[in-house]
Amino acid sequence: MWHNRRQAPMHLELTPAQAAVAAEVEAFARDCVAPDAARIDETGEFPLGLVRQAASRGYLGMRAPTAVGGRGLDHVTYALAIEAVARASATMAVILAVHNSLVCDTLAWSGTSEQQAAWLPRLVTGEVIGVFALSEAEAGTDAANQQTSATRTGQGYTLDGRKVWVANGEVAGVAIVFAATTPGARGRGVSAFVVPLDRPGIRKEPGVDSLGVRGLGCVELVFDQVVVREDERIGEQNQGFAVARRALEAGRIAIAAQALGVGQAALDEALKHARTRHTFGRPIAQYQAIQWFLADMATELAAARMLTLKAAATADAGHDFGAQAAMAKLAASEAAHKAADKAMQVLASAGYRRGSTVERLFRDVRATEIYQGTSEVQRMIIAAAVLAE
Ligand SMILES: Cc1cc2nc3c(=O)[nH]c(=O)nc-3n(C[C@H](O)[C@H](O)[C@H](O)COP(=O)(O)OP(=O)(O)OC[C@H]3O[C@@H](n4cnc5c(N)ncnc54)[C@H](O)[C@@H]3O)c2cc1C
Repeated sequence: MWHNRRQAPMHLELTPAQAAVAAEVEAFARDCVAPDAARIDETGEFPLGLVRQAASRGYLGMRAPTAVGGRGLDHVTYALAIEAVARASATMAVILAVHNSLVCDTLAWSGTSEQQAAWLPRLVTGEVIGVFALSEAEAGTDAANQQTSATRTGQGYTLDGRKVWVANGEVAGVAIVFAATTPGARGRGVSAFVVPLDRPGIRKEPGVDSLGVRGLGCVELVFDQVVVREDERIGEQNQGFAVARRALEAGRIAIAAQALGVGQAALDEALKHARTRHTFGRPIAQYQAIQWFLADMATELAAARMLTLKAAATADAGHDFGAQAAMAKLAASEAAHKAADKAMQVLASAGYRRGSTVERLFRDVRATEIYQGTSEVQRMIIAAAVLAE
């Protein structure tokens, strides 16, 4: 549990290996991702070229075991890497987080050795990009209300339904799909499957446009009488909700890290502007009003970063980390939202201008309070944990 202080790892120093990977990813983010960030946002196009560059550095297998060609990074290093990428482009961070956390990690944790052998080596090289297809029009927060069905046949299942907001979908070759195997049984009747997206009966339809994190390649995935084999089920029949929960718990650490990267970028922009913008003959950084904005941004982001690294370290130590991950996501997404808002105030009209970096961050950050469980869901998880004490 989150409160188990005796089990809580408290090493605050990074190991040389963790610091080295963080520095490596920071350089990639600065040199390759940052120059493309505004273009990704403007065009809304999936940044396939950048994703290929990330793949060549092993960033599509950050968490995947070395035995399948992955980098085998621990959660702490992975969180630092996602924060570094998000500081340059929130969109790139989400693309990597979905592929690494929700797809590779799910297969590594919950897949059979055959499923892992079939998919992980191709996922870590980027030959295949992965998606996580849980949400539906009537199953977002209420994910147990799955209308997509997987009906038992002699050899396996027939999949029918429609998934929405499937990030990475435009270019993906494989999906982790959730469907009702016992309709009406809600969370106790959902199963998970790993499904190649070139299977007959699968259609990708354009997703809706979005306020921020543009360029995620979101699609709607339509399943029309799709044949799925028994050995493509992940975990036991009707136990798919546990697979989703495990994936989302770990994924929330990555979303917390993503939020921190966006928040840090907002602080970076605010600092730059505060030092260079003069009013009444002085840099605005000399005014206490501006200093307090900067101090609050730095403090709230630092506090959320501690929670995020604590959740990551707890996961690395093999302890329960679900409530800690929820706290990290809640704190980081709210701190980053506030940081983007304060940065907008520090920059004023220079931030409000269409196409400014702060304007992009202001839009990008909002989704971190929505996907992989809204802030209300995180509060429910945390409240359940504290009430269970
Ligand atoms: C950019 C983006 C990318 C996404 N990518 C993916 C993806 O790759 N795969 C995927 O499966 N999904 C994805 N999603 C979907 C996302 O997970 C859902 O949007 C999210 O779970 C919220 O569901 P909803 O939008 O249907 O909101 P709703 O469930 O309709 O919630 C509406 C509001 O009601 C609140 N609420 C609902 N129930 C309760 C309750 N019991 N108590 C208190 N408050 C409640 C919510 O917190 C929210 O404020 C993505 C979404 C976005 C925006």
